[in-house]
Amino acid sequence: MNYISTRGTAQPRDFAGVLLAGLAEDGGLFMPETWPQADLHALRGLPYAELAAALIQPFVGDTIAAPTLRRLCAEAYATFRHPAVVPLVQLDTNLWSLELFHGPTLAFKDVAMQLLGRLFDHVLTERNQRITIVGATSGDTGSAAIEACKNRARVDIVILHPKGRTSEVQRRQMTTVDAPNVRNIAIDGNFDDCQDLVKAMFADEAFRTEIHLSAVNSINWARIAAQIPYYVAAALALGAPAREVAFSVPTGNFGNVLAAWAASRMGVPIAGLTVASNRNDILTRFLAANDMSVRGVEPSLSPSMDIGVSSNFERLLFELLDRDPILTASIMQGFRATGRMATPHEAWQRAKTMFHGFRLDDAGTIAEIRRIAAETGYLADPHTAIGIAAARARPGTTPIIAAATAHPAKFPDAMEQATGARPALPPHLADLYERAEHFTESPNTLAHIQAEVRAFAARNT
Ligand SMILES: *Cc1c(COP(=O)(O)O)cnc(C)c1O
Repeated sequence: MNYISTRGTAQPRDFAGVLLAGLAEDGGLFMPETWPQADLHALRGLPYAELAAALIQPFVGDTIAAPTLRRLCAEAYATFRHPAVVPLVQLDTNLWSLELFHGPTLAFKDVAMQLLGRLFDHVLTERNQRITIVGATSGDTGSAAIEACKNRARVDIVILHPKGRTSEVQRRQMTTVDAPNVRNIAIDGNFDDCQDLVKAMFADEAFRTEIHLSAVNSINWARIAAQIPYYVAAALALGAPAREVAFSVPTGNFGNVLAAWAASRMGVPIAGLTVASNRNDILTRFLAANDMSVRGVEPSLSPSMDIGVSSNFERLLFELLDRDPILTASIMQGFRATGRMATPHEAWQRAKTMFHGFRLDDAGTIAEIRRIAAETGYLADPHTAIGIAAARARPGTTPIIAAATAHPAKFPDAMEQATGARPALPPHLADLYERAEHFTESPNTLAHIQAEVRAFAARNT
């Protein structure tokens, strides 16, 4: 399988090349040259790790042998604390919750990251290379990346977080990891400062080459590929291919819902996809009125969806434009320059045949958490509750599956506000508040951070 850039001028790569590169050098995102078709009958009833390996194999092509990929998937999903890995819970006649939060850090990002860390190690061992992953986080991504990369032989990971500005659960999930290849740095600044420092390190060509800089952000195709299998598993469990299903997905960077859409391209009968947003509603506005315009990001009770721009949307745009890279590049350049995306009317209408928008503010989110708990006894975290509310806005006879993206114990304040009780952390994290934290502190200057990353990456040589 080869991958092409949505902007058309980057050299096509194989899976290993795309895994290590992340973003294409022309600024575009990598897409598979063709969509493999899933043999849904053959996949029914398989354990999750086997189903995942079978679905991911065509994307990997020749770069990883089938038995190796099966082993990596088995190891990745053995870290999940539910035998079904991604269980379905019924909430109403035609409404289900797809629980994606049984991994080590209690958020759906573990599903992709646990595999990604192992894929990195495998590919880097074959090439006899090392990488240093550098990222900025305000919450879930950093902890999922650290859990996935800790103690990996070929990977060092440095995560910057804004000092005093992440939730205590989220900070402790990162800083209590005690592994020689993990470094947490608390930056004297906010999340944007952290992100600017990371961008500046990537823009410094000499530095990037010297320390073999790499990223694990959600534009990496391998992450999307690793999120496709749970949509297939849920559809099969509820009757596919004989019966259509729909999904509702709490959305930020558009990575998770894009994987659902990829499942439909691979032959899963999907009747519709609801893009559920909080008050940061650029996607809702796009679907309602073809208004993809950038506004300031406002904090909400569902912080992992607090985004101004959904970077994976470019992949959908490319498809809506019949894979025209010149048009995609010009629309993206216009978007960057003006803050407003000029999506052709026909492409917008095509998007609306599959995608539905939905938006819920914080007050609505609290009310929805309270309602779900009162009616069903189910605890939905703020992100999940928005997805469930969006699913309920589309009643019908087609089963609709809401992606449950985080465990409620990650957001104890919102849960207490809605239900009066703080959910307990699962047993493996019960002593999180007693564990020792490991991090260094740094002023918000590029020179300091670069010196620290350089020393960390060089400590073994
Ligand atoms: C990252 C995240 C999201 C958003 O997912 P995208 O792939 O960025 O759309 C939603 N909910 C939770 C809990 C997350 O961590």
